[in-house]
Amino acid sequence: MTDFQLATSVSHWLAKFESALSQHDEAALRELFHADSHWRDVLACGWRIRTVSGIEPILRELKRFEARAIRIDPARTAPRHATRAGEKCVEAIFRFETKAGVGAGVLRLKDEKAWTLLTALDELKGHEENTGARRPKGWTYSREFGGPNWLERRKEKAEFKNGEPAVLVVGGGQAGLSIAARLAQRAIDALIVDRWPRIGDNWRQRYHALTLHNQVHVNHLPYMPFPPNWPVYIPKDKLAGWFEAYVEAMELNYWTGTEFLGGRYDEQAKRWTVSLMRRGKKRELHPQHIVLATGVSGIPHLPEIAALKGFAGKVIHSSQYVDGEDWKGKRAIVIGTGNSGHDIAQDLYCAGAQVTLVQRSPTLIINCDPSAQLVYSLYSEGPPLEDCDLITASVPLPLARKTHQLATAHARNLDKALLDKLERRGFRLAFGDDDTGWQFLYLTRGGGYYFNVGCSDLIVEGKIGLAQISELENLLDGTDLVVLATGWKGQEHLVRKLFGEGVAARVGPIWGFGADQELRNMFQRTAQPGLWFIAGSFAQSRIYSKYLALQIQAIQLGLL
Ligand SMILES: Cc1cc2nc3c(=O)[nH]c(=O)nc-3n(C[C@H](O)[C@H](O)[C@H](O)COP(=O)(O)OP(=O)(O)OC[C@H]3O[C@@H](n4cnc5c(N)ncnc54)[C@H](O)[C@@H]3O)c2cc1C
Repeated sequence: MTDFQLATSVSHWLAKFESALSQHDEAALRELFHADSHWRDVLACGWRIRTVSGIEPILRELKRFEARAIRIDPARTAPRHATRAGEKCVEAIFRFETKAGVGAGVLRLKDEKAWTLLTALDELKGHEENTGARRPKGWTYSREFGGPNWLERRKEKAEFKNGEPAVLVVGGGQAGLSIAARLAQRAIDALIVDRWPRIGDNWRQRYHALTLHNQVHVNHLPYMPFPPNWPVYIPKDKLAGWFEAYVEAMELNYWTGTEFLGGRYDEQAKRWTVSLMRRGKKRELHPQHIVLATGVSGIPHLPEIAALKGFAGKVIHSSQYVDGEDWKGKRAIVIGTGNSGHDIAQDLYCAGAQVTLVQRSPTLIINCDPSAQLVYSLYSEGPPLEDCDLITASVPLPLARKTHQLATAHARNLDKALLDKLERRGFRLAFGDDDTGWQFLYLTRGGGYYFNVGCSDLIVEGKIGLAQISELENLLDGTDLVVLATGWKGQEHLVRKLFGEGVAARVGPIWGFGADQELRNMFQRTAQPGLWFIAGSFAQSRIYSKYLALQIQAIQLGLL
């Protein structure tokens, strides 16, 4: 099909869809979808993020969907042929309107019938982001020469001496920065608090040699892409410096050295009372919303390891490990074969320690480049970042699983030589549930894989020792350091600690997929009013911060 024919075919489908929706014509709608189709809706129909699969559930749900002006969006990537989850389709970005707002969608057609549909709220009518043509004029500080200037206003606002933030964001990593930046463009006062003394310390304080594992073009923060001369894999300290620059440039309110101690919700007043410890001083605030951006990993998981009873050397959790300097010439054991375990083992080895990595369970190993990058191939296909993000959001769970199975099989092939050698050394390999690979391990368990940046090669060469957990007892004699790279407890534990048993029980499990085929309690309303969660990769933070900000804005406006 030519580009013109593609556009015509998509336009016909959209026109029929709009007509059938407006006339509540179930028979006509049925004609438009494949039996095994999927519809993912992000806030456009019922203010939830959810996916329905199969024609009958889709038809049932579409009864509630009121959309008009459904058209190909001429400002975005034109309809084109694509291969998704191994199948050829026509992929088109469209726009539409609902009562509350303007939406963006992605339609995938196979044989002119819908295979997948995404409908996502993009803006609230009359309350659009203050960006581009809507940017602030700045009259208050540019015309009133006698009043406080921009800097004085900025400093006063960031302190919240005479006011309260509507939203308290706990955690100033990429998730916290992304949501705070999105809220700022919607004129919603947000304050980020983080316990680290300096912005970016969440990266700066990680191990010495760290660079990001994904390529730069996938990792941009909202509104402010990394400069085009930046390295493909960003070093941690460069990233930490960017976080500082970002907070300054985006005018975010950020209190460093501030521990969030906990909060309780007043159902009547619809606001929280929260306690903060800021550089040794207690402060109470009353935000309407708390966004927990504290990372997927909540509290260190320290399993009982019988062999360690009576061990006289030092035992630390991976979160306490800074660098290998002090362990030069000493003997160290790292328990756990996920990313942290491998990276710490390599760091200790490079510092001159004699290291053994101890495996507890089978682990997925994938070379960082190119194998781990396969799942991001869309971002090198050509569409602009915003379109890639929308297309990423448009992939329903079953197709995502299939896509990742294919990428995992491809990576396994690319990495075969390394994997074979590791197995010969006694390393037990895994490939994720149903071979869905590392990303699903991340989305379901928050770990269980290693992006090889050299440690696997050191194991193969015998420079880093490898043992199974059953052998630990025999290794401890003469060992100076044991690092427990044993992961983290789920965020539920953190919620219990910060808000109590009642809130934890109401909210339930966090992260991992629920019955609605979405990550549980992430990026959308939870059963606890005013409590939200955001976490994940740079891409997830960038994509879903937008939708989280829209929901908070809708609540502030009384629309939700
Ligand atoms: C080696 C490595 C490479 C990675 N590479 C990539 C990559 O290329 N791309 C990618 O997308 N992801 C990557 N990740 C994964 C992921 O993006 C990071 O782990 C990231 O740090 C998660 O960001 P976050 O904002 O969700 O949480 P974090 O960065 O963990 O930030 C949470 C913040 O919350 C603060 N906090 C927690 N509790 C409190 C409290 N009670 N009071 C005050 N402050 C609190 C913490 O101090 C912390 O600063 C990588 C991870 C590692 C380890």
